[in-house]
Amino acid sequence: MNIEPTLLGKYNVPVPRYTSYPTVPFWTEEFDIARWKEAFREEFLKNNVQNGISLYIHLPFCESLCTYCGCNKKITTNHGVEGEYINAISKEWKLYKQLMSESPILREIHLGGGTPTFFSPSNLATIVESITRRAVVHPHHEFSVEGHPNNTTKHHLKALYDLGFRRISYGVQDHDQEVQRVINRIQPLENVHRATEEAREVGFRSVNFDLIYGLPKQTLPGIEKTIQQTIELKPDRIAFYSYAHVPWTSRGQRLFDENDLPSAQEKLELYLKGKELLAAAGYVDIGMDHFALPADDLYEAWLNGRLHRSFMGYTTQRTSFLLGLGVSSISDIGVAFAQNRKSLREYYEAIEKDELAVFKGYFLSEEDMSFKKYILNIICGGFTSIDPSDLAVLRELSFPLLKELEEDGLVEWNEKEVIVTSLGRHFLRNIASVFDLHLQRNSLDAKPLFSKAI
Ligand code: SF4
Repeated sequence: MNIEPTLLGKYNVPVPRYTSYPTVPFWTEEFDIARWKEAFREEFLKNNVQNGISLYIHLPFCESLCTYCGCNKKITTNHGVEGEYINAISKEWKLYKQLMSESPILREIHLGGGTPTFFSPSNLATIVESITRRAVVHPHHEFSVEGHPNNTTKHHLKALYDLGFRRISYGVQDHDQEVQRVINRIQPLENVHRATEEAREVGFRSVNFDLIYGLPKQTLPGIEKTIQQTIELKPDRIAFYSYAHVPWTSRGQRLFDENDLPSAQEKLELYLKGKELLAAAGYVDIGMDHFALPADDLYEAWLNGRLHRSFMGYTTQRTSFLLGLGVSSISDIGVAFAQNRKSLREYYEAIEKDELAVFKGYFLSEEDMSFKKYILNIICGGFTSIDPSDLAVLRELSFPLLKELEEDGLVEWNEKEVIVTSLGRHFLRNIASVFDLHLQRNSLDAKPLFSKAI
């Protein structure tokens, strides 16, 4: 598909990735923790028996810094840090348990990072068991983990399998050695191969690869080779992310030369080439940057309109109640979001005092709930119907923007529904943003807040 450079220039502006609505820059640090606890108690009760709850556990340590990284991480080679962190997670879980009036039913656990496989297999087991010991594990639970191909051993995989983990996501990013050198992530193909094979041998039923396009030194022949080598390993899902260049918040990104980054046009070509190769290999494009083989749950969820988008990207979300544990973790309980302190020292200090480590969050209004639905519908399904009760606000803030998107061929719409066109699928974030009332009503300087759309 040809995309006019003028169109690319027009829409390649800073815009949220919509892993939440309202997006994090609109949350407040004047966050009422007593109200958060009350909302947590109520929503827990509503959700627990019906669907169970989900847990995200952030494990922040990494042995070396990948320069492109935008995650909350702590670089260290000292594995002595594991013990203190394990104790803090266990204590934080106990603090939240006090707000639960019945035994939590665990439907999902996701270990993210950082590098979860920085922890030894026995320490990972200690963390998970400290949670599951004080809970009921749902018979149809889904436990998943992020692994680094360089340090995920068969011992890790066996320990996680024994704990009920069946999904693993490997950060692969790019197989090209020159790109790996510049991003400081030397990861021989044989390591990715070994980690993938071992996960399957142990019994993991889904292996995901994260790849990134738009990294420094990436070229069209290079990305082609990376995608072909990836296809040979046949991961069940592939997240083919757009690199977010935000050196004002991710300082590691200042460590390489910006001149090595592909232009917006080149970046789009990298994406289109990757997408073409993935489609030819049978991967279905289920939305912004995510691809799945038809046998994978994510594809089925997309087909049946059950796809969801959260802080972990696209998910098949089985619950509406996500508790985040660990430094910088985010909880989403449907009616409110809360984020934990981002510095390890502050996180430890709060937990040590028997206090929740939450420092920032947001309680959704009724209007937020409606517009969150529109944004999720666009991002997850490329379509939304419109509730007549929202028409007054939509006419004022969203419809003028939709008219412009329509003129550019990105949507078809009327006052009852909005449909994203095939061209519009490349600009999902821009289209979703017309329903972002916080963005429309506030003249925030977007540059420090969001990455560019392409
Ligand atoms: S990309 Fe992953 S492994 Fe690299 S520094 Fe970031 S969190 Fe750590």
